[in-house]
Amino acid sequence: MLTSSELIQMVQAYDPCANATLIRKAYIFAMEAHGMQKRASGSPYFYHPVKVASILANLHMDVTTVITGLLHDVLEDTNVSFEELEEIFGSEIAFLVEGVSKLSQIQYSSAQTKQAENYRKFLMAITHDIRVLIVKLADRLHNIRTLSYIKSVEKRRRIAIETLDLYAPLAERVGMNAIKDEISDIAFCALHPNEYRAISTRLEQIRTRDNNFIQNTILELQKVFNEQSIPAAVSGREKTPYSIWKKMQKRNVGLDQIYDIMAFRVIVKTIPQCYAALGVIHTNFRIMPGRFKDYISIPKLNNYKSIHTTVLGLFNQPLEVQIRTDEMHKMAEEGIAAHWSYKNGDIVSKEIDSQNYSWIKSIITILKNSSDSNEILNNSKLEMFDDEVFSFTSNGDLITLPKGATAVDFAYAIHTDLGNTCIGVKINNKLAPLKTILKNGDRVDILTSPYQHPEASWEDFVVTGKARSCIRRFIRSQEKGEFVALGLQLARYVFANANIEFNEDLILYKNFCCDSTNTFYHNLGKGHISLRRLQLSLPDSSNTSQLKDTAICLIDFAPGIAVHFSKCCRPILGDKIVGVLQKEKGLVIHQTTCGVINDQGEPFIKVKWNQDDNVETSIMARLQIVMTNHKDSFAVVTNVISSNGANISNLKIEHRSTEFFSLLIDITCTDIAHLGEIQAALRTCSKVKSVKRL
Ligand code: MN
Repeated sequence: MLTSSELIQMVQAYDPCANATLIRKAYIFAMEAHGMQKRASGSPYFYHPVKVASILANLHMDVTTVITGLLHDVLEDTNVSFEELEEIFGSEIAFLVEGVSKLSQIQYSSAQTKQAENYRKFLMAITHDIRVLIVKLADRLHNIRTLSYIKSVEKRRRIAIETLDLYAPLAERVGMNAIKDEISDIAFCALHPNEYRAISTRLEQIRTRDNNFIQNTILELQKVFNEQSIPAAVSGREKTPYSIWKKMQKRNVGLDQIYDIMAFRVIVKTIPQCYAALGVIHTNFRIMPGRFKDYISIPKLNNYKSIHTTVLGLFNQPLEVQIRTDEMHKMAEEGIAAHWSYKNGDIVSKEIDSQNYSWIKSIITILKNSSDSNEILNNSKLEMFDDEVFSFTSNGDLITLPKGATAVDFAYAIHTDLGNTCIGVKINNKLAPLKTILKNGDRVDILTSPYQHPEASWEDFVVTGKARSCIRRFIRSQEKGEFVALGLQLARYVFANANIEFNEDLILYKNFCCDSTNTFYHNLGKGHISLRRLQLSLPDSSNTSQLKDTAICLIDFAPGIAVHFSKCCRPILGDKIVGVLQKEKGLVIHQTTCGVINDQGEPFIKVKWNQDDNVETSIMARLQIVMTNHKDSFAVVTNVISSNGANISNLKIEHRSTEFFSLLIDITCTDIAHLGEIQAALRTCSKVKSVKRL
C-alpha cells in the first residue's frame, strides 16, 4: 500500500510545486471516511482510492485530479456531503468528485447493447470536465484488475460488458490506448473465457515454435537501423487476445489468417526519421501489399499518429511494424492525459507545435480560464452532443430526444398509447407539468389515465415529429365527430330560438346541397351554412308557450377542435361567455365583455360551461389523501376520481416520506352524495391509507 509520502513523492517528481499538504489531507480524509469498509477482496476499501490516485499520478495528472482520485468514492459510499468536500477542498475538487459519482450511477446492462453509442454520448454529455472521465477510467482500471474477487457471476458480467461497451471505447476516443487495451482484455477474459484461453494457447504455441521470435526480430530490425545510422528504439509485443478476437470477428476469419499477431514498434526522434525508417524496412523486408497506412499524414479522429506497415520477417512470419516519434508514442498511449504539464501548480499545455493538437490546447485553455462548464461543452472538439438530451424511464432504459423535448415527447417516444393517455408526469420523483423540458439524466415516470386524450394545446410545446403527428392524427380523427356534434347543438339552438320543438325531419338538408343530416350538421358546425339560413327554412312556430332556452353546452366538446377559447380575452371556467361562429374554425368562445367581438358586431351564440350553468349544481371540495409511496399510487387516485365523473381542478403534494405521501386534491362534483361516492371509491384502493374532506 502506497503511503501518503510516497504518493506525494510520485506527484512532486513531475510537478515540484504540487501542494503536499492538500494531498496528505485528502489521503487522511478518504481513509477516515471509508473507515472499516472492505473491498470484495477483503482488503480495506481505502486501498482502492489510493490505487486510483497512483494510476493518475503515473499518468502525470495535475494535483486536483490526483486528489479527486483519492476522494472519488466518498460521496457515493460514505456519509460525506458535497458541502463538506467543498468547504475542505474547494469547489473545483468537490465538483470533480460529484462528476465521477454521477458517472458511477449509470447502470448499464447487456440488454442495452444496442444503445451503447447513446450511453457513450450520454456519459460524454454529463462529463463537463474531461478530468472526470480520466478519473473514472482510472477507477475502472483498478476495479477490473480486481474483478475476480467479486463473487456474483452476474455482477462480474455486468461490469465486464459495461467496460467493453462504454469505457474501452471512451478511453479510445480520448486516445488513452494503454488503459483501453488493459481494461478490454480483462473484460474479454471475464466474458468469453473459452475464446480467451484458445487465443492465449495459440499465442503460446507461436511463441515456443518460433524460439524467441520476438527477441530475434527486434535484434534484426535494430541491426538494419544501425547500418543506416537511424537512431531508433525497437520494441515488440504480441497483440492482446481481445484485439485479435475483435479482428477475427470483424474479418470473419480464423486465428491463422490474422497476420498481425506480432506488433513491433520503432520509435524515433523526428518525422523525417519516421519515413527514413520506413524506407529501410521496405528495403530489407518483403512488404505485404495493402497493409500500409500513414496516420502521420492523415491522423485518426482521436489524433492518433503513426505509420503502420506489415512485412514478412523471420520464418516468413508477417509482422506489423508501427513507426512513430516519442511525442506521437506518448500521445498514443496516454492520449489527452499526455498533454497536461505543470508550472507553479497551473496546468499549461506542453510545446504543442502542430495544429492538430489545437483541440487539446483549447480544452486546456478553457479548463484554466473558465468556471463555466457549458463553455467546455460548446467549445471542445470532443463529441459532447449538446443538441441531444438523455433521459431515463423508471426501468432505467435510456431515451434520447432532441434538446428542448418535453415530457409529452418522452411519452410518445416510448409508445403512442402512452402519449395519447398521459395525464401527468413525475420527473425525478416530483410531479411536474407535462410541458416540462427534460434535462440530461432526468428519470421520467409518465402517469396515464384511460379517460385522457391528446389536447390540441400540446402542439404548442412538443418538439418531436412523432409527438406532433400523433397529436394531429388524434385531433383529425376527432374533428369530424366534434363538428357534427357542434352542428347538432347549433341546430337545436336555432330551433329553440324560433320557438319550435326540435325535429330532425324539419331540416330539409337537400335544400342545403347536403346528402344527409350528418353532412348538414358538419357544414353547420364548420360555419359553411349560416344559422340565419336554417332559421328562415323553418316553418312558423305554432307553439304558444315559450320553449326553454338552449345555450350550447361546452362540457361536451374538447377544446381546440371544433370549439376554441379566444386568445384575446382568454375566458376561464366561471366567466360569463358567448360564442362566435367562425368559418372553418368552429365556435370561438369569448368573454361577454371582450372588446374584440363587441367591435365586430358578429351575432353571438349563447354558450354555457356545463349542463345547468344557472343553478348551483356543482360543489368544490378539498380532499386530503394519504397513500403509499408507490409509482402507481398517483395514477390510481386520479383514475378513480375521473372515472367517477368528477373534475380535478388542483392538486398538490403536502408531505412525502419514503413510505407515504399526502396529497391535497381539489375536485368539482355534482353534490354531497357524489362526493361521498368518490370518497368511498378512493377508500377501496389498496394504496390509499386515508381520505379526509377538509
Ligand atoms: Mn471507485
